[in-house]
Amino acid sequence: MSGYRDAFRRGRGRHRRRRRAPLKPVLALSVLVACSAYMAHAVDDDPTECGPQGMAGPNCRSVPLGNRADNPAGKAGGAEAVPHEGDGAGAAPRPRTAEQEGVYDRERCGNTSGRVLLTLDDWPYNDPQRSVRIGAQLQAQGVRAAFFLIGKFAAQYPQITATLRQQGHWVGNHSFSHQKLTALDEDVLTDEIRQGVGGNMLRPPYGAADEREREVAADMGFRICNWTIDTHDWEKTDGQPRSAEDIRAAVRDATPEEKHNGVVLGHLFSNFPDALPGIISDLRSQGYGICRNTGPVNDQMPYPLDC
Ligand SMILES: [Zn+2]
Repeated sequence: MSGYRDAFRRGRGRHRRRRRAPLKPVLALSVLVACSAYMAHAVDDDPTECGPQGMAGPNCRSVPLGNRADNPAGKAGGAEAVPHEGDGAGAAPRPRTAEQEGVYDRERCGNTSGRVLLTLDDWPYNDPQRSVRIGAQLQAQGVRAAFFLIGKFAAQYPQITATLRQQGHWVGNHSFSHQKLTALDEDVLTDEIRQGVGGNMLRPPYGAADEREREVAADMGFRICNWTIDTHDWEKTDGQPRSAEDIRAAVRDATPEEKHNGVVLGHLFSNFPDALPGIISDLRSQGYGICRNTGPVNDQMPYPLDC
C-alpha cells in the first residue's frame, strides 16, 4: 500500500489534495436535519431526563472532545488495513472551523460547558460489543461521552457507531489505522483521516498533531480534539495494566482547571470502562458536571461544545 502511495503521491503540493472520496449517502444527514431542528431548544440540566428513555427526547445535539497520548498497547490489534467501507470518508467540503479562526482550544475540544467530557479511544480488541455496553451504561447515568474509534475496526462494525450515536454519544475520527500522523506524508495523512470515522472531530493518535495536521484536518472539516486529563489507563507496569482504582484516582486528583471544561482520556481496551462508575461518582461529589446525554446525535459535534 505504501508502494502505491509512494508511486502516486509523491511531490504533491502541500495543500493540494484530491476530493475523490465518494460522497457517501449519508443516512446521518437526515438525522442531522432532524437534529438541527431541535438545536434551538433549551437543554434541560437534569441528567435524569436523558436516561435510557431519553433517547427519544427532543434535544439532539453534538459536541467535540479531546485527547492526546494514545495507547501504544492498542496498536496490537490490527492486521493490515481492512477494506474501507464507508463509515468515514467524510471528505465533503465543510465550512471553516472555529479552530482555524484561532479561538479553539484543542485540549478542551472547544468545551465551554464547565462540565467534563469523558472520552474513550481506539477499540475493545477482544470484545467489540463492549463499546455498546459501555455506551448503554453511560446513557443510563445520563452521561454523553465521546468515542474515538479506529476507522479500520469501526468499518467492520458499522452498527456499533450507529448504536453509540443512537445512545446519545458522539463518535469521532481517530484515523484509519492509528499511525502517528505527524510521521506520514501528506497523502497518506489525508487518507488516514478520510478513511476514518466520518464527522467533524479528529483525535489524532497519540495526540500528535502539528500545524500541518491541523490544516489538513481543517480542510477536510475536522477539528483537533485532545484532552486535559490523561488517565494513563493504557500504561502497563511490570506487564500489568493500570488498575481501575488508579485510573479513577487520576481523575479524582486532577486539578480544578483540568476538570472545569475538561476532557478525560481513556480507552476501550483498558480498565478505564470499569473505572467509569467511580469516576462519575467522584466528579459529581466534587461538584463537577458531566456532559449530559440528551438523546441521539448525528456525526457533528457542535462548537462551542456546550454539553
Ligand atoms: Zn488511540
